[in-house]
Amino acid sequence: MTNALRSRLTVALVTGTALLGAACGRAEPADRTGTGTDSTPAPTRVVVMIADGAGLSHWTMAYMADPSIGVSDMQIGLVDTQGADHVVSGSAPTATAYATGVRTFMGAVGVGPDSLPVENATEAAAARGLATGLITTTSIVDATPASFALHSPTRYAFPELSRQLVDRELTVVLGGGRMSFDGPAQGDDGALMDRIRSGYTYVETIEELTAVDPSSTDRLFGLLAQGDMGIVPDRGESALATMVEKALGILDRDPDGFFLMIENEESDTQSHANADMGTIVGEMLDFAAAVRQVLDYQAAHPETLVLVTSDHETGGVSLDYDDDRDVVMGYSSGSHTGVMVPLFARGPGAEAFGGIRRNDEVGRALLRVLRGER
Ligand SMILES: [Zn+2]
Repeated sequence: MTNALRSRLTVALVTGTALLGAACGRAEPADRTGTGTDSTPAPTRVVVMIADGAGLSHWTMAYMADPSIGVSDMQIGLVDTQGADHVVSGSAPTATAYATGVRTFMGAVGVGPDSLPVENATEAAAARGLATGLITTTSIVDATPASFALHSPTRYAFPELSRQLVDRELTVVLGGGRMSFDGPAQGDDGALMDRIRSGYTYVETIEELTAVDPSSTDRLFGLLAQGDMGIVPDRGESALATMVEKALGILDRDPDGFFLMIENEESDTQSHANADMGTIVGEMLDFAAAVRQVLDYQAAHPETLVLVTSDHETGGVSLDYDDDRDVVMGYSSGSHTGVMVPLFARGPGAEAFGGIRRNDEVGRALLRVLRGER
């Protein structure tokens, strides 16, 4: 489809004539939140939150479980999650699109279709003097966090990605994946771990993380599992919340501002496994609680832009009903699907993220914010 044709295919959900004008313009989307206008200063604190694999059905189930869920009063848009050469995408190219503004090929981390590195969100933030942070519930060098900081034509080059991550000297790094930094993957000499321990406050357990005092910690590196941190019952009910709390506490101390990416991996992993509804809802509610934490921070620091989205949908999740007309969750896939995913936004500049956006458009808008171009 050509861009010209695409731009004519504007679908308006018109509930009143006042909405008609707002629904028809793409170049200047309506400000549906009232939080962002041309006169508001560019945000200096930016948080991107990714519920990996979560589509509208995942969010619908979470909303039914808790109608006051954090995202329910944010601006909403939809993201077209395609890659450079494919419709149904994966975490590496979609996270790369968000982080760099460039659509690329399957498995690509922070590189364009030509396999060459492209500037990503943490690099743009650091170039402007902002603090930087990555949080995930899986390996910290898995595709999503890696795409926001690192560069590789293959997402599975974990030892190389680990070395790159230590070289990047981010402010806060919290997740799993210790096996990629230590042991046989790095030649057993412990050199990479020595560099982490000398450059950061280093933690390996949630208990050690809980004991961290953000007011006296300048840089924090946590490798909280050998690989994936697992679902809520395995990683602990406080794990994601504690990671978010400590990261915000440290990043908040940089007077220049910060960029933070937060991912929950398990909405994807469990949807691949076609897990039961309770497991999926549990992951979505844990993530939504983290969204609430970040929105509470945003309320106290209105110069913060918060984006909540997904890289792609996983499972082709449907909500059917049984003989008692109770909701029954179903799957049409054990892999990813090509349906759009929601993009929730709040804060200065949020209006750039409403409507239907390509994932690389979202990335370019994000980079404009991080470069202070808005
Ligand atoms: Zn997946």
